[in-house]
Amino acid sequence: MASNNAESQSVVVVGAGIGGLTTAALLAQQGYQVKVYEQATMVGGCASTFRRRGFIFDVGATQVAGLEPGGIHHRIFRQLQVDLPEATLCDPACAVFLPGEKQPINVWHNPDQWQRERERQFPGSGRFWQLLQTLFQISWRFQARDPVLPPRNAWDLGQLLQALRPDTLLTAPFVTLTVGDTLRLLGLGADRRLKTFLDLQLKLYSQVGADETALLYAATALSVSQAPQGLWHLQGSMQTLGDRLVEALKHYGGEVFCGQRVEQIHCDQGQVQGVTVRDVKSGEVRREQAQQVVANLTVQNLLKAVDQPLPGYHQRVTNLPPSSGAFVIYLGVREDAIPPDCAPHLQFLYNGSGPIGENNSLFVSVSKPGDGRAPKNCRTVIASSFTDVAPWWDASPEEYQARKQSYTQTAIAKLGEYFNLNESTIVHQESATPRTFARYTAREQGIVGGVGQRRFTFGPFGFAPRTPIRNLWLVGDSVHPGEGTAGVSYSALTIARQICASGATNF
Ligand SMILES: Cc1cc2nc3c(=O)[nH]c(=O)nc-3n(C[C@H](O)[C@H](O)[C@H](O)COP(=O)(O)OP(=O)(O)OC[C@H]3O[C@@H](n4cnc5c(N)ncnc54)[C@H](O)[C@@H]3O)c2cc1C
Repeated sequence: MASNNAESQSVVVVGAGIGGLTTAALLAQQGYQVKVYEQATMVGGCASTFRRRGFIFDVGATQVAGLEPGGIHHRIFRQLQVDLPEATLCDPACAVFLPGEKQPINVWHNPDQWQRERERQFPGSGRFWQLLQTLFQISWRFQARDPVLPPRNAWDLGQLLQALRPDTLLTAPFVTLTVGDTLRLLGLGADRRLKTFLDLQLKLYSQVGADETALLYAATALSVSQAPQGLWHLQGSMQTLGDRLVEALKHYGGEVFCGQRVEQIHCDQGQVQGVTVRDVKSGEVRREQAQQVVANLTVQNLLKAVDQPLPGYHQRVTNLPPSSGAFVIYLGVREDAIPPDCAPHLQFLYNGSGPIGENNSLFVSVSKPGDGRAPKNCRTVIASSFTDVAPWWDASPEEYQARKQSYTQTAIAKLGEYFNLNESTIVHQESATPRTFARYTAREQGIVGGVGQRRFTFGPFGFAPRTPIRNLWLVGDSVHPGEGTAGVSYSALTIARQICASGATNF
């Protein structure tokens, strides 16, 4: 039940990504007057879609964690009393092809099957996986008790302390270890094949390889695809996730306005005051007062949006290692382009240092027959790779086009080693670069995925939802990176609880 206090409080949410929409819907349900401003023409951000010639392409996110009972999306949809999107389990979650290998390493959903696969693929690595499993189970139970990390005031600290149990403390000695350190400590430092596999999988989630990824973070990233958790493929498209959240938001009286860019977040004496919004089409500008502002932005964008210097915060952001962007190729293909028994998600690492992203790998998502993404007898194939953003921005217009074309051709040639790609099987093709992501999602320089999960930037050392400005909140993958839409939903739930606690609303 909402209190009168909530009903009189206005909240502006800047951005209708999954983080912004989830916070907005949860607060609207509690009686807050919520308005969401989204600069794009549709909601969803990196988890939205676009249509071409009868195909529906997922822009960025293609698979979802946290839809199983107890998972974060499941919990939030139940809380909002909205139907869960229809989804099928990804099994294997991923088929990983190492350089020159024709048979993949299949990351199975069934834990026993995955253990047998690991024993066959990486003999002698059992102790490493056992340690990961133990750390994951402790961390997962801790996460399920909704800790606030990192804490910024007494209430946050109280939430953190109530989530701690004696077993949580067992993870303390591992807090500053990386995956690379652990491999060496367990005598597995020389196992190149295991290291290559871990580098490849970790890069997908943490943005960095095994030598830099925090062990505690890796334990979660490498375990969420097994039962009782899992990765899911949404029926229809990724857009369903955002659309269902909008449905909930409106049901509870909230509003979402697309084509409205928030140009500035106003503060006075350390307290948020409101925002300036520009109608993208008409150019009309107006100012909107709000008691709470939730920024579904990258931390880099947040700094630019606030009309007050934040020296300490600024210093922290400037000291972050460079963030990655993405190069993505979207293919609409005929059915005969897809090999039989093709897994829904595949990862390829290629020999050499060819020009596809930083580590010459591709993560590929293939639509399923009848999943709503492709016309009859056709499928979508979406392949992505992390890439440094700077060369895409430093290039002249001609260099940019040449670079984009070169990436596209290389990606098609590489994909053609597995898929049957030629003029008659490819119906539609287009690519996105960091510049494309910057244009459509307004993310600074088109950086994606949030802050890398290194040992001194993950979880307890990351950015907090509370910013240095009172009642200005940061939601999204700068706060909870590396777990995609599930991660940003955790950050949304935390902020909704923090705002309700400060307004003494029951949650
Ligand atoms: C290529 C790629 C593949 C990925 N694959 C997966 C995957 O398979 N599974 C997974 O879970 N995750 C995946 N992710 C990550 C996932 O998509 C993101 O972590 C998540 O969607 C981020 O959500 P968000 O709410 O933090 O931010 P965003 O999605 O960036 O949303 C922010 C929103 O704010 C809007 N906005 C920005 N500035 C303004 C402004 N000034 N005024 C108004 N509106 C503004 C933007 O237009 C956007 O809609 C992938 C990402 C990419 C790029």
